[in-house]
Amino acid sequence: MTTEERPKLSNKDRILMPHQEMPLRPAESRVLNFEEVPIGYSAEQAEKEAMRCLQCKKPHCIEACPVGINIPGFIKLIEQGKPEEAIKVIRQTNFLPAACGRVCPQDKQCQAVCVVGRKHHPVGIGNLERYAADYERLHRKMEMPEVLPPTGKKVAIIGSGPAGLTAAYELVTKGHEVIVFEAFHRAGGVMVYGIPRFRLPIQIVDEDIKFLEKLGVKFVYNMIIGKVMSLDDLLEKEGFDAVFVGTGAGLPRMLDIPGSNANGVYSANEYLTRIYLMEAKKFPTYTTPLYSGKKLAVIGAGNTAMDVMRTGKRLGADVTCYYRRSREEAPARSEELKHAEQEFINWRWLSNPVEFIVDENNFVKQIRCEKMELSEPDETGRRKPVSTGQYFVEDCDTVVMSLGCSVNPIIPSTDKMVRTNKWGVIMVDDATCQTSKKGVFAGGDAITGGSTVILAMGQAKKAAAAIDQYLKGQLTEEAKVPTDPNYSVQSWKPASRKAEKEGQSVDAR
Ligand SMILES: Cc1cc2nc3c(=O)[nH]c(=O)nc-3n(C[C@H](O)[C@H](O)[C@H](O)COP(=O)(O)OP(=O)(O)OC[C@H]3O[C@@H](n4cnc5c(N)ncnc54)[C@H](O)[C@@H]3O)c2cc1C
Ligand code: SF4
Repeated sequence: MTTEERPKLSNKDRILMPHQEMPLRPAESRVLNFEEVPIGYSAEQAEKEAMRCLQCKKPHCIEACPVGINIPGFIKLIEQGKPEEAIKVIRQTNFLPAACGRVCPQDKQCQAVCVVGRKHHPVGIGNLERYAADYERLHRKMEMPEVLPPTGKKVAIIGSGPAGLTAAYELVTKGHEVIVFEAFHRAGGVMVYGIPRFRLPIQIVDEDIKFLEKLGVKFVYNMIIGKVMSLDDLLEKEGFDAVFVGTGAGLPRMLDIPGSNANGVYSANEYLTRIYLMEAKKFPTYTTPLYSGKKLAVIGAGNTAMDVMRTGKRLGADVTCYYRRSREEAPARSEELKHAEQEFINWRWLSNPVEFIVDENNFVKQIRCEKMELSEPDETGRRKPVSTGQYFVEDCDTVVMSLGCSVNPIIPSTDKMVRTNKWGVIMVDDATCQTSKKGVFAGGDAITGGSTVILAMGQAKKAAAAIDQYLKGQLTEEAKVPTDPNYSVQSWKPASRKAEKEGQSVDAR
């Protein structure tokens, strides 16, 4: 359909058009396998949803996107039936659109400020981004970007999550030689070892990696920087002119209660990594074992807990969530919680685990919880769980703790020139992402302690721009890296007060 064929619509007509819901696979069949749950918009649905955009003169949605995508610009092209043009607009600022269209918390970012959303459902910006990106992939329309002539400068990227991949893209297209060092045998970071395949199919990440390889980025796997080679080795012996640290926040927090060290008790990170990266779900074809039984107890109610529960369900377990607050306080995004609820999970709200009871071989067999109630809201508005002195015990044969993560400590602990705050988060100059060590920059979860794919990408873009300046000798000012150990980065504010209130918490408890 062309623009000329479209009726001219007033803003009122557009606002009143019904929101196009993303079609999902039915819960009964989707829990039987790891295939993607949302099916994606048809061209007709995408064009109808795009018609709801008012093309605001001052579009707050752009400001609320951490990488500043020209949102009304690409939506207009979808409305005009030109997804192949729409994706070009998205790619000007976002190198991972198929992943972001699927996993970004748009309800807390661009969609939180969409003016249509004041009274109606906001424009489905994420679903439209996904539509344009899928169109490009399925029609093999991916265009190579312009790559500037070689500069003779060499940059090491440590970690291949969204931060490392984005920095690699930005720097290789500026003509620098880029080598990515990754501790695991596969690139993608949490996108391949955390976020489940039924939310983000691995082929999508693999295609993005291949795209980077075509642009000239080299990947070195099974290489832990800080153990096998130090930052000084990279800068002084291996001839790198700058380093970007994108090592993420993969150090799990665990409950310290009796039975925490029992067999069958995992962190969410270990559980998901075994299943997705090490393919434990295909044991014994793959050699990674996973003691995953029939009754899975998951502690926490954040987004990661939802991923663990839905994964356990697909492995055939009866899954129960234990959370010490009520459903109202659950930190998971409402969509993630809704999808988990559709998938036959059992919920034990206001239940605080106090012990994992073990059998004679130290295998977990039961979970003991204290029933909680909620206090009045405190100064932050959050209600605290309060003991009731009443307990209950339930059977389980696997426990997964999903209580948030801290920054991977290897790099700062092996190079004292890299300053961290008291929580081990790498501190950087807010304007350039430079660390306290000359020539070393950082971004992503390593500098926030845990956030989102798109925030990690936004910081990596900032860091890459500064590295480019540094390599050209244009970054002459000394880095202003905070010295206060209580400092924590606030490099991007959530899109609205409502979003701020609902903001993603790294502490899923
Ligand atoms: C289960 C789960 C679900 C999530 N779901 C979402 C979601 O739906 N939407 C969203 O926006 N965000 C989500 N997040 C958060 C998001 O994935 C992270 O914020 C994002 O991946 C951070 O990117 P990063 O590049 O900083 O780090 P990571 O993705 O963690 O990548 C870091 C990489 O560095 C490597 N590495 C670490 N140390 C070294 C070393 N010393 N040497 C070499 N390599 C090293 C690691 O192996 C890893 O590959 C989720 C997180 C988890 C755990
Ligand atoms: S705020 Fe909403 S209506 Fe306005 S340009 Fe952005 S997506 Fe369109």
